[in-house]
Amino acid sequence: MSTPTNCQQWQHLAETIITEGRIRTEAFIEGEYRTAVSGERFDCISPIDGRILCRVASCDVADANIAVSSARAAFNSGVWSELPPVKRKQIMLRFADLLEANSDELALLETLDMGKPIRYSCTVDVKGAASALRWSGEAIDKIYDEIAPTAHNEIGMITREPVGVVAAIVPWNFPILMACWKLGPALATGNSVVLKPSEKSPLTAIRMAQIAIKAGIPSGVLNVLPGLGDKVGKALALHMDVDTLVFTGSTKVAKQLMIYAGESNMKRIWLEAGGKSPNIVFNDAPDLQKAAEAAAAAIAFNQGEVCTAGSRLLVEAEVKDELLRLIIKEMEFWQPGHPLDPATTCGAVVDKQQLDTVLSYIRAGVAEGAELVIGGDQIMAESGGMYIEPTIFSNVNNKMVIAKEEIFGPVLSVITFDGMDEAISIANDSIYGLAAGVWTANLSKAHKMAKALRSGMVWINHYDGGDMTAPFGGYKQSGNGRDKSLHAFDKYTEIKATWIALD
Ligand code: NAD
Repeated sequence: MSTPTNCQQWQHLAETIITEGRIRTEAFIEGEYRTAVSGERFDCISPIDGRILCRVASCDVADANIAVSSARAAFNSGVWSELPPVKRKQIMLRFADLLEANSDELALLETLDMGKPIRYSCTVDVKGAASALRWSGEAIDKIYDEIAPTAHNEIGMITREPVGVVAAIVPWNFPILMACWKLGPALATGNSVVLKPSEKSPLTAIRMAQIAIKAGIPSGVLNVLPGLGDKVGKALALHMDVDTLVFTGSTKVAKQLMIYAGESNMKRIWLEAGGKSPNIVFNDAPDLQKAAEAAAAAIAFNQGEVCTAGSRLLVEAEVKDELLRLIIKEMEFWQPGHPLDPATTCGAVVDKQQLDTVLSYIRAGVAEGAELVIGGDQIMAESGGMYIEPTIFSNVNNKMVIAKEEIFGPVLSVITFDGMDEAISIANDSIYGLAAGVWTANLSKAHKMAKALRSGMVWINHYDGGDMTAPFGGYKQSGNGRDKSLHAFDKYTEIKATWIALD
């Protein structure tokens, strides 16, 4: 079937896969779908209209034990871990191709499951996921190990080996994309993986496991365990035979995972966590219209459910009114609509709990005395779905709750500053350090800002740029380690030094 081109066609496809029971809902262990050992299931509810899409296997410690044993056996057998890199590359490329070949179905599952607009599920999420697998696959047969600069009667070899069994715990905001940012380097370097998707968005990960097998990833190398964080997630984090835990999610859970690692086998632990990123516009910004477009997208794209959302807009006093006027105009483009309509740019937030959280932050902003400029309300409630207006607060100061805490919704806090020193001081006054934007025509100022900002990514005269070649991750309580780029491979490999004495 050709790709649907309008809302009715997407809805028709959705009805077909839902009513015909074609959505896979089980765990995937050792190359096959299985119900949870307990037989438990949880409701998978669509935020588009509140309907129950299906009931998904709710895994726990028993399933985690089986999946980790399966991953360990596959790893030890060498069927994947000892495959020549060039062969792993070929399979990774096929895996990427098959994701793209199944793009309509995967994009539809993503949108139904977590409410993002179908246009982005196709063009950002599935495409980006395939690109992550492809990039890591392409890289793996081009990376060399090292020889140390020793004396002539010695050889020091520095080699990288896969860590073994990797548990990957991922969030719901970019379900397939975050999974593939982990799977790409984890699989390319020869590890076996147990992937735990969020209970709020498990469907694409479950389906993807079957596609991996079709691509040639051997049984047991990729297992998927849907279930609750404090059950199966906790079981993986405490497991004595998981070598490395990679995580993307909230700072709160990230801290808990560090405790679990310490309480169990001191597994290596890599955390990509939350953010409250400053987007800083100086009086000398080269193009205020471009800055306004970027500022609106930085808070409304993906319903504001983006770790790098530019949720604190720092603007120099002289251009504040003009910039705000332009952003308010831009927000017309970001008004929520039906996520299956290809024209929609802003969909539903992931669930009722998240909707309530965002609304409670908006109430807190009003109570603290910030000026509510636009938005602030739930809309389209009659659909049964979770929609919220893009919201802007002005006259915010950096001590307010809406400036300090990650809201993870389309709520922008506008803060004014005077001069570079104050901009740096406000921007860095956060427990987070994920990303920052800087808008200035002054090259020297741009470089000074980039150096002074305590964040893993700095964007000059745009926002949210990057591709697979650049590392992604944060300073401070935004986490450690990096996804994407060759730096991500560090998380999935151990370094071995072999010292040889020659006669
Ligand atoms: P979350 O921390 O609530 O959940 C993330 C994952 O952890 C889910 O799979 C969940 O089931 C699991 N989990 C929850 N409790 C657990 C426990 N006790 N033990 C083990 N696993 C547990 O985060 P979320 O709400 O799914 O995602 C939103 C967060 O993710 C935001 O803070 C956002 O900034 C962050 N995020 C960060 C990045 C990044 O690269 N830095 C990217 C995307 C999202």
